[in-house]
Amino acid sequence: MREIMNVQRQTSLRQGFGGQAPNIERRTPPGLDKAKTSHFQFRTSNLTKIFLILLTLSFLSPVAGAQDEGALELHFIDIGYGDAILIKSPAGGYILIDTGYPEAKQKLTSYFKEQGVTELDHLIMTHPHPDHLGNAVAVRKNLKIKRLWDNGQTIDQFDEQLTKPMVKEYEERFRGRSDYRVLKAGDSIRWGDVSLEILWPPDLLSSRDWNSNSLVIMLRYRGFKALLAADFNERGERELLKKGTTNLSSDLLKVGHHGAGDATGPAFVKAVSPRWAVISVGANLRGYPSPLVIRRLEEAGAKVFRTDRDGSISFRYHPDDGMEK
Ligand SMILES: [Zn+2]
Repeated sequence: MREIMNVQRQTSLRQGFGGQAPNIERRTPPGLDKAKTSHFQFRTSNLTKIFLILLTLSFLSPVAGAQDEGALELHFIDIGYGDAILIKSPAGGYILIDTGYPEAKQKLTSYFKEQGVTELDHLIMTHPHPDHLGNAVAVRKNLKIKRLWDNGQTIDQFDEQLTKPMVKEYEERFRGRSDYRVLKAGDSIRWGDVSLEILWPPDLLSSRDWNSNSLVIMLRYRGFKALLAADFNERGERELLKKGTTNLSSDLLKVGHHGAGDATGPAFVKAVSPRWAVISVGANLRGYPSPLVIRRLEEAGAKVFRTDRDGSISFRYHPDDGMEK
């Protein structure tokens, strides 16, 4: 039985997780010396290249695809332009954050199959743009899902990718269900030893700028912190920083708005100071990601990964040697 997930609306954020940076280790191929290093390596899966970054001193099974009990995994799935983040808990449960464009359905389905995902503890939609919401209904239909969440943004405008029938189906099959709730700043999803703290938005801004209302999530597991910034932009960043109550420093940043130049401003990068930055992006006519944003992240000391060049990107975290392996 997996953990019971408690969701609490909190006025203050949970503190007390260690800020110590974990060590990195190279995953060694079978038969090779398991020398400790401070590098990462590619792994080729059936679908695509996957980076494995092992943030631990302990040794993991060198068998590709082996299950690592006790590890937290974050998979930034290459679904073209858009976001789809699969998180595997140390206990073996799954959360999916965003679902990409409708065209990404096959890629998403294949990735779930490859990873053996048949049910989700939580499906979280950060905001209702079509490159995030595109497969929400399909995922809802095909997987067993315990909890549905989004930011509550009223979907009152459409573009060619966000059709009225699609929105109607989303309203009925997602928001219309008893297991659906709206998340807002101060909420926290307890997921066994993992927590997902909602940092943004406190309340929806009554603006057409839906990106600034994106759910911003701080994921914590023992000493590891990942800030998942959806399509958060500088407008939202400024407001969040103004609150000044949240420690944003993180090991990993899912870069906001596909690396666009209207997000990931200097003050935000300084506050987060990520060691690793992931840009979820595919072919687009807007020139994303912005070279300026990439340079800003690199100058702050981050190693930048991007799904359009690196394929699906996976991170795996083991808190200490004492974990099962
Ligand atoms: Zn987007």
